[in-house]
Order: sequence, then C-alpha cells, then structure tokens
Amino acid sequence: MVRPGRSGCISRVPIPASPTWRSSTTVTDSPASDPNRAAAILTIDLAALAANYRLLATTAAPARCAAVVKADAYGLGIDVAAPALEAAGARDFFVAQLEEGIALRALLPEARIAILNGLAPGCEADYAVHRLLPVLNHPGEIEAWHGFARKTGERQHAFLHIDTGMNRLGLGAGELDRLAAHPDLLAGIDIDLVMSHFACADEAANPMTAAQAATFQAARGRLPKAPASIANSSGIFRGAAYALDLVRPGCALYGVNPTPEAANPMRPVVRLEARILQLRDVDSPMTVGYGATFRVARPTKIATIAMGYADGYLRSLSGRGEVWVAGTRAPLVGRVSMDLVTIDVTDVAEADAQPGALVEVIGPHRDVDAIARDAGTIGYEVLTALGQRYARRTVGAAA
Ligand SMILES: *Cc1c(COP(=O)(O)O)cnc(C)c1O
Repeated sequence: MVRPGRSGCISRVPIPASPTWRSSTTVTDSPASDPNRAAAILTIDLAALAANYRLLATTAAPARCAAVVKADAYGLGIDVAAPALEAAGARDFFVAQLEEGIALRALLPEARIAILNGLAPGCEADYAVHRLLPVLNHPGEIEAWHGFARKTGERQHAFLHIDTGMNRLGLGAGELDRLAAHPDLLAGIDIDLVMSHFACADEAANPMTAAQAATFQAARGRLPKAPASIANSSGIFRGAAYALDLVRPGCALYGVNPTPEAANPMRPVVRLEARILQLRDVDSPMTVGYGATFRVARPTKIATIAMGYADGYLRSLSGRGEVWVAGTRAPLVGRVSMDLVTIDVTDVAEADAQPGALVEVIGPHRDVDAIARDAGTIGYEVLTALGQRYARRTVGAAA
C-alpha cells in the first residue's frame, strides 16, 4: 500500500466540493418534493441510460464495453450516471482528470478507472492510493511512472496512448520508435491496455478511420502484447473490426446520435422542462428582448420562461431555437438572456400557455442533437453545458 508523499497531490490539490445542486438531489428525488416550485426540471432516465449501455455492449461484443463519464458524465451527473452504468454491467470507466477519478473511486469502489489526461505531475501517489490508472500519453509520463514503480518497489499498472492522427495526446511516431527500440523504458510498468482515438468516426464515409486503425495495429505490433482499444461511440458503429478488446463510448450512452447520417439508435436520456413565468400581448412596432433584435409583425403572445444562458441554454439559440408547449411548437424570439428566454406562443392554445406551465425544452419533440443543430454546435456541448440550477431528478430503475 502506497501512501501519498508530502509533495503528493493530496495536499496540493484539494478535492472540489460537491456542486450545490447535489445537496438538493435528495429533495427533488423524494416523492415528498414539490416539483411545482422548481423553475426548471432536468430529468435523467436511468433506464434509458442502462438500455443504451446494453445496446453498445451487445454491438461491440465480444469486446468489453467501458463507459466514459468525464465532465460529470457529460453533464448528467456522475453520481447518478456512474452507479447506473455499473449496475448495467460496466466495469471499466474513463474520466479526463485526476480529481474526477478520485470522486468516481468514492462512488465505485470496485471499478477499473482510467484517467485520460494522463499522469498529473507529482501526483503519482494519488493514482496509487485511489487505484486510478494513468493513460500514459507522452515519454515524460512513462518516465515518471517508471520512476514511481522503482521508488515503491511495486509494479505499477497503466494504459498507453498512441497518437494515430489526432495530434492531441498520445505518443507520436518518433516517440513510439524510441519506445520500441528501448523496451526498458517500460520496466516496472504493466501496460493493461494500448489505446488510440478516432478523429472522424462520426463521418461514415471518412477514410481517416480505417487509416488510423491500420496505423494503430502497426504500432501495437511494436509494443509489448496488451489488449487494445480505439473505438469511441461512433467507432462502435463503423464495423466490428474496430471494437478490438475494449470500446470507450461516451456521448451515445447519454443519447447523442453516434451515427449522424442515420436514425439515432440510442434512447433519449435527458428531458428538460422550464416553467412559464409571465405572458404578454405585443404588437407592431414593439420589439422583444435585449438589442431589440425581434420586431413584432402581428399581434403576438409572448411567454417568458425561467431558463437562460446561465443554465447552459446557449445564447447562440437566440432567434433560432424552439420549445414545445403541450405538443405545439413555440419559436424563440429575441435574444436568450442570462435567466430568461422569450417564446412566441400565439399558436398555442390559451389553456396550455399559462404562468406556471412547464414547456418542453429537451424532450420527444426536440432532442439534444436538434438543439445542437439550432445552436451551431454538437450534442456534447449541449449536454456538458447543462446548468447547475435545474432541479434534477432521476426516473427509471438503474438495472
Ligand atoms: C471523450 C473520449 C471518448 C468518448 O468519446 P464519445 O465520442 O463521446 O463516445 C473516448 N475516448 C477518448 C480518448 C475520449 O477523450
């Protein structure tokens, strides 16, 4: 058992306090809670999350299926998502940062957890104490982990990342040459997985995916024999040959379409509803909102709803987004404010557009990918932007 050294990160890097919404999770989860009070409600469907995991695992079988839960499980909340994924069968988890790994270890004592961003300098002991696997991305990290193994007198486990075209993280071609020529650089290190990462797997016809896979296989042949992984969510759907020994889906677990050229095979996991605060009748030549960007052309009923860019409802949706009120489309008008959005409810039945009514922001009429298109971004950003002010609740059994 290794203890954190005096220079170790446990003293240097404080574990961040839980986000404030967590303290209210039990309240919103409880049947006694009053959803009528919440300005906006974010619902996470754990049954859909589990079903998505099982679909990915089945598609990738016989490869193992990990779960990528970085960035608070893509904004859904790692404390609800990770245990549900483990209950659905996941045993291997990836996060980006050491602090995320430490928090995840507290949630999942048994899981295998790897840190994609690698070995944080000077923090070797923290990985050992919390049983976190660094993904060794460059020669300096290999050297540090090798040194730590020598210092502790214990073999240390790690994943090894080979860059095959992202030019972001992982060993480049020259670094791989050097490692292949000097296997002693890995003395004391057990490489439990060799991995790489696709740049274009979301584009079915892009030849870069096959080229990267070929580069990766050549690299594997020059390294100590180890299980291999290259496929993210989209990679799983690009052919069984890419599944190798382990797949690493993230976005598809959370309902983002991993096959943008085809219908979404995943179930929606996130639902977001926000409440109407106020209604008003406006007519030409009035304008709505900051910058007076929306000029009313006809007698119009405007509803103001309790959600804005401070909640991750992207400001680029100004004048472009839409929400649904009792099954009727209501376009955004004017700019998205920090805490408020204005919508045109002229075509909505009066009984449905009332103060206090919940409108559908993310749901059956408007999924995460559709909102991303409206906003000029990707579903990943819509999810990871989801705000901390929403009342969060979960539905669905975890297993
Ligand atoms: C984020 C990430 C994944 C997951 O990617 P998705 O496209 O969300 O499935 C897998 N591997 C690595 C290295 C990543 O950074």
